[in-house]
Amino acid sequence: MSDATEQSEGKGFGFNTRAIHVGQDPEPLTGAVTVPVFQTSTFAQEAVGKHSGYEYARTGNPTRTALERAFASLEGAAFGVDFASGLAAEDAILRMLRPGDHIVMGNDAYGGTFRLISKVFAPMGITWSAHDLTDPAALTAAWPDNTKIVWAETPTNPLLTVIDLAAVSAVAHANDALLIADNTFATPYLQQPLAHGADIVVHSTTKYLGGHSDTVGGFVATNDGEIDTHLRYIQNAVGAVRGPWDVYLTLRGAKTLGVRMDRHNENAATIVEMLEAHSAVSTVLYPGLAGHPGHDVAVRQMSGFGGMISFRAAGGRDAAIKIIEGTKLFTLAESLGAVESLIEHPGIMTHASAEGSPLEVPDDLVRLSVGIENIEDLLADLEQALAQA
Ligand code: PLP
Repeated sequence: MSDATEQSEGKGFGFNTRAIHVGQDPEPLTGAVTVPVFQTSTFAQEAVGKHSGYEYARTGNPTRTALERAFASLEGAAFGVDFASGLAAEDAILRMLRPGDHIVMGNDAYGGTFRLISKVFAPMGITWSAHDLTDPAALTAAWPDNTKIVWAETPTNPLLTVIDLAAVSAVAHANDALLIADNTFATPYLQQPLAHGADIVVHSTTKYLGGHSDTVGGFVATNDGEIDTHLRYIQNAVGAVRGPWDVYLTLRGAKTLGVRMDRHNENAATIVEMLEAHSAVSTVLYPGLAGHPGHDVAVRQMSGFGGMISFRAAGGRDAAIKIIEGTKLFTLAESLGAVESLIEHPGIMTHASAEGSPLEVPDDLVRLSVGIENIEDLLADLEQALAQA
């Protein structure tokens, strides 16, 4: 676990301590130990133009400030902004672009990110292309004119490809572009992209940071004050904010991120071992496997391999669907990163919007979000589902 940067709060304290304490001192008026849910839309002002720092809850709310300070610290960032969802956070970043600008994205990414770029921003004159970001030399050779942003997920959703952030940031910076890293799968507990050269980190906090499948949220962290000013301006102007209850739930969830991730890592590693040996499985995609093409980068860049596993069913699409519909404990649902285990078919579900594009995923692919239940129960459930295929 690398330390936070010079600028971030809580420097010198460990990850779990920062998750529990940064931005979360006891409330000064009453001593409440837990950050209150400031359920208010506006704040009384002492005199015209003289206020506590809070004027109107779209612009800022103390519950949100607590989360922003804590999560920025976890990413080793000076600045952080909470958003209504991961996609709202991505939208605010992409609004830095102007017609004629180009986005380089990886050839594997969350389907909603692809939809946002290709269906919402492209019609506004912003161009995009998909590249193999595991090959920085090829990216340099193919570098499209006017590229302002390189958008990298690592590990990617759903193929678990690992991108070398330091290498890709070197290419982006040599061409005056920014590197945006989606750190949703790894979480700041396992990987801090700013320390590897990313300019902006984005999260769907709906996933591991919140950790309990009970709220939707997004977060952006950066060390660049100008980017922070842009994000806050856009958020206030456009309004993609959350209510304080949802913010509270995410902040509460993140207090246990470290202990949850340790269990996600352990459970996933055991399940990978079982899947590797199973005849109903043709390929297991997991960065912790020594044979995974991104394993060496993952060892360097991450402190654990996470709770996400994808695998291909030996019997093809129909077998994949049988397995997915056959589990009893693994819930058939979109989303990921929470305490309970989920299973899904990316081609038909989360990544349907990528069909026919360079980001299309194989139709025999099964994605698991391994939860923190007892491992024997998870293994037994998967084994009985695999037996049906
Ligand atoms: N990034 C990744 C890697 C995701 O998996 C998702 C959602 O699944 C998002 C971003 C979008 O986040 P949200 O659903 O909170 O808008």
